[in-house]
Amino acid sequence: MIQYKSPAEIEVMRHSCLLVGEAHAAVVPFLKAGITTMLVNKIVEEFILDHQAIPSFKNYHGFPAATCISMNDAVVHGFPSDYILKDGDIISLDIGVYKNGFHGDSAYTYAIGEIGADVQKLLRVTKASLYVGIDKARQGNRIGDISNAIQEYTEKKNGFGVVREMVGHGLGRDLHEDPQVPNYGKKGYGAKLKEGMVLAIEPMINMGVRDIIQLNDGWTILTKDSKPSAHFEHDVCITKSEPDVLSSFEAIEAAEQKNENLTWSYAE
Ligand code: MG
Ligand code: MG
Repeated sequence: MIQYKSPAEIEVMRHSCLLVGEAHAAVVPFLKAGITTMLVNKIVEEFILDHQAIPSFKNYHGFPAATCISMNDAVVHGFPSDYILKDGDIISLDIGVYKNGFHGDSAYTYAIGEIGADVQKLLRVTKASLYVGIDKARQGNRIGDISNAIQEYTEKKNGFGVVREMVGHGLGRDLHEDPQVPNYGKKGYGAKLKEGMVLAIEPMINMGVRDIIQLNDGWTILTKDSKPSAHFEHDVCITKSEPDVLSSFEAIEAAEQKNENLTWSYAE
């Protein structure tokens, strides 16, 4: 059942969603070759706890950490380890916070040091596809309009693989609410979008084939062909007019541009 939020609830949610972006921005200055993903998680978790919030993912169905950390050919649901970041890695951080009764959930993929032009294109296209999807998040449209727009842009236009098994979702008092928001689908199909719906839209895009496998750690999802995968996620509220993006990449992008150890420019 879809949980529609009142305007007052949306403002409470906005606070949680913005806090996720701030948690990202807090760790960005530390991202560079030589640090462990364990440290990345520690910084994120401490930031969340320092802001009187709870990491949404920790212990969620037994997930072992505050942050989903998925490197290179990991699509999603990786977790911190003693792995040491090296130049050329891409690292997707998916962070969730629970505060004042509502979750925020946002993902961003970072490039450590220099990365190849092909990987830059994957990040650029995946990030752009998120906004292509958001543009369809309008009252009167259907979920399939968002899904189809992301698929057309990533798969048809750019030749990348769209992960089928993992999808976006409704967001609110629960981390995963109805409806599901696939990154593939048909225009005009699926639940009708209505004012007060909040959707976590999150394209997970593979450079190669769309197929995935699960590591025997029970969590980490990898691309079947071992090629890289990227992931960006915003929380979007359906309104009577323009889509209202509750999460923000503003602080993240500002921090990214200040960190000379990252490749941040995805311009054509
Ligand atoms: Mg997420
Ligand atoms: Mg999500």
